[in-house]
Amino acid sequence: MIVTAFDVSRARALTPGCERVIHFNNAGCGLMSQPVLDTVLEHTRLEAMMGSYEAAARKAEAVNAVYTSLATLLNCRADEIALTDGATQSWHRAFHAVPLKKGDRVLTANNEYNSNWLSLRRRCDQVGVSLEVVPSDADGLIDIGALKAMLDERVKLVAITQITNSNGKVNPVEEVGAALRGSGAIYLLDACQAVGQMPVDVQRIGCDLLSGAGRKFLRGPRGTGFLHVRREAMEKLDPMFIDIHSANWTGLNTFEWKPDAKRFEVMEHNIADRLGMGAAVDHALSWGLDAIQERILSLSTLLRKRLSELPGVQVRDQGTRPSGINTFTIEGKDLMKLMLNLRAKGINTSVTNFDWAWLDLKERGIDSIMRASLSYYNTEEEVERFVEAVAKA
Ligand SMILES: *Cc1c(COP(=O)(O)O)cnc(C)c1O
Repeated sequence: MIVTAFDVSRARALTPGCERVIHFNNAGCGLMSQPVLDTVLEHTRLEAMMGSYEAAARKAEAVNAVYTSLATLLNCRADEIALTDGATQSWHRAFHAVPLKKGDRVLTANNEYNSNWLSLRRRCDQVGVSLEVVPSDADGLIDIGALKAMLDERVKLVAITQITNSNGKVNPVEEVGAALRGSGAIYLLDACQAVGQMPVDVQRIGCDLLSGAGRKFLRGPRGTGFLHVRREAMEKLDPMFIDIHSANWTGLNTFEWKPDAKRFEVMEHNIADRLGMGAAVDHALSWGLDAIQERILSLSTLLRKRLSELPGVQVRDQGTRPSGINTFTIEGKDLMKLMLNLRAKGINTSVTNFDWAWLDLKERGIDSIMRASLSYYNTEEEVERFVEAVAKA
């Protein structure tokens, strides 16, 4: 095992929640760091004291810096970033901007996020588009050979999820990007569970659109999200919504979209939370995403090993490259009850039932799965205490 010099005690000192709970629900919502908390509270106070519009004007530079921070995180330009109120909103703005007509084809994978699948299903049915799931390889990952074989000029969109909420497997998103190069299909990637726990580089991935949330592994406030829109893809897309923020009103009956990704935004949003997301991105960058990933993987390896030693416990994550999402089932155990029981003891996890993940869980014959998702501020000792609590149950 690689021995890292990650300063866990500093990470914990900067995370007030660490003193109170064992937080293994970072895929639901990470614990905010002190700088994030301070940023949100400070701006909320400023709004109360001087008026919200006036406070926004005063912090205009800081708000702009949020775009720059996200651009650094994702390796793109600041004008390729739109800020939203969550990952689903980001994804919807992207998806509904992709022109689709009867007879077109859309490809996805078998771990597509639940809400994305519902949207794909509904719109494809409405428009008369064929929605097709690319088969998986022996490791449960999207099969690149199968994807290539399915591509033709009718495929207008490939929408996949890098890591879903109920399975720690990481799809080979760069290989997908390479397979799609020159195909004419728009590549929409849901990277909600990847951003913040590992390096995510849109240049290397080659996606046209990438959606994510602020609150999960990035540890930002709830109700924050972002969308990356590749410059070259901008003109192929037709945003579904328009308002006085996303476009300029150039004549009574004419308008012009904003020249950048702001055309995918709407005017009203919570500025304190947005600044908080920026602080969360800066915080992640200050640790370095490679170091964060290494630390999370080292903890996850230990957790999976310990869990698999327990009788009746089955670790369920697929794939060849693990992530900080660790899922398992326990024979004959009501996982929802166990989750509530653990929560009462100050241990946070989450449970996904099959009707939240038909594609991933139902297809694998799993009714219900427990998830322990780790951040870099978690410790080996917390892992041992968690496993002990599960063993006792
Ligand atoms: C949580 C999640 C979403 C939705 O994010 P919201 O911010 O809740 O809208 C989308 N995709 C994946 C893979 C997720 O895990």
